[in-house]
Amino acid sequence: MARLAQTAGLTDVQQEILKTVREFVDKEIIPVATELEHRDEYPQQIVDGLKELGLFGLMIPEEYGGLGESLLTYALCVEEIARGWMSVSGIINTHFIVAYMLKQHGTQEQKEHFLPRMALGEVRGAFSMSEPGLGSDVSAITSKAVKDGDEYVLNGQKMWLTNGGTSTLVAVLCRSDEGHPEGTAPHKSMTTFLVEKEPGFGEVRPGLTIPGKIDKMGYKGVDTTELIMDGLRIPANRVLGGQTGRGFYQMMDGVEVGRVNVAARGCGVAQRAFELGVSYAQQRHTFGKAIAQHQAIQFKLAEMATKVEAAHAMMVNAARKKDSGERNDLEAGMAKYLASEYCKEVVEDAFRIHGGYGFSKEYEIERLYREAPMLLIGEGTAEIQKMIIGRRLLEEYRVQG
Ligand SMILES: Cc1cc2nc3c(=O)[nH]c(=O)nc-3n(C[C@H](O)[C@H](O)[C@H](O)COP(=O)(O)OP(=O)(O)OC[C@H]3O[C@@H](n4cnc5c(N)ncnc54)[C@H](O)[C@@H]3O)c2cc1C
Repeated sequence: MARLAQTAGLTDVQQEILKTVREFVDKEIIPVATELEHRDEYPQQIVDGLKELGLFGLMIPEEYGGLGESLLTYALCVEEIARGWMSVSGIINTHFIVAYMLKQHGTQEQKEHFLPRMALGEVRGAFSMSEPGLGSDVSAITSKAVKDGDEYVLNGQKMWLTNGGTSTLVAVLCRSDEGHPEGTAPHKSMTTFLVEKEPGFGEVRPGLTIPGKIDKMGYKGVDTTELIMDGLRIPANRVLGGQTGRGFYQMMDGVEVGRVNVAARGCGVAQRAFELGVSYAQQRHTFGKAIAQHQAIQFKLAEMATKVEAAHAMMVNAARKKDSGERNDLEAGMAKYLASEYCKEVVEDAFRIHGGYGFSKEYEIERLYREAPMLLIGEGTAEIQKMIIGRRLLEEYRVQG
């Protein structure tokens, strides 16, 4: 029988990349992930290894020093990495979203300035829409940019920046009234600013403070922070694409590929939970036989494996749609919604199979149990995905007349 989550139609190059990443995950990530996670320690050695593999430049075009691979290749790599440790996939995800936004929307000068160093992992990206008062409702953003000569002055507070401390380039979404008078639709008066900064915490650039890490229930190791702008001056040539008022669309484009990435993470975490469950079920004995021989446990394994397969198929479909140049908001929304819900359920079942031991920090499933919920929230909650899916369905199935 084929192993779960296989992907048909991959090229030799894609297969080779995936094999390399899988070996790296098995050798360098899985053996240390749980220990590092319990210490909330940044996986510097793993990140250095990913740099060497060229993972930070996987989707950056070859002319800028990257590997020029597709979203599908990237998503399959993310799936493998998340199987090892979800936090590591978080480290490359925001970097990738920013590189993608630059590639799609940046000026030529911006691409040449950032992309070659991003491909090497020397410049590392974070992206910032959320604020303390909003996450789902992006149109309510209050951070503000005001033009002052050749610069913009930014003020406001941002929340939940993945890689907020370790990144050196943050794509920040602000409201910008210049050229967009009072009464302009909210999504037409937003601008993405490319904010360069030093890594670390405290005042990392005049007018820009990154307070310490937010203490989280899971998804540890990777830093998640706030960002405070107090008179932060950004030159006009660091407006993404050189034009104000385009920020909302640019961010939504980035989030669309981010959703495929979160779906891929859900697939990876669910696969790992299945692997742990199916292995434990064959080792633990009750009532004279391995628990895998009890039909109730076999049914659980069957349900888990079916969910792993279904989520993988939808994630691959969403990635291929985007790679074909078509709009994929429906497919990405469905994949993100299904993969994150299934991930939570598969992890829960693997946890139950472990009995009391699942509750012990000595067992890997305990870590997965704290990681899975983040996928229900990041890159848009389940409710937001359903709103996107519902709206698109009504467009497609509009009743005429
Ligand atoms: C670990 C972590 C990392 C993150 N990283 C980043 C990052 O790098 N960059 C970034 O910008 N953001 C990041 N986020 C923020 C994330 O995108 C938001 O948390 C998410 O979008 C939800 O927003 P919220 O937390 O404000 O919840 P809210 O928007 O306040 O929602 C609260 C609840 O209400 C529901 N709800 C909201 N509106 C509706 C509606 N219209 N109809 C029905 N239900 C609704 C939601 O589904 C949810 O259940 C991160 C979050 C976490 C936890």
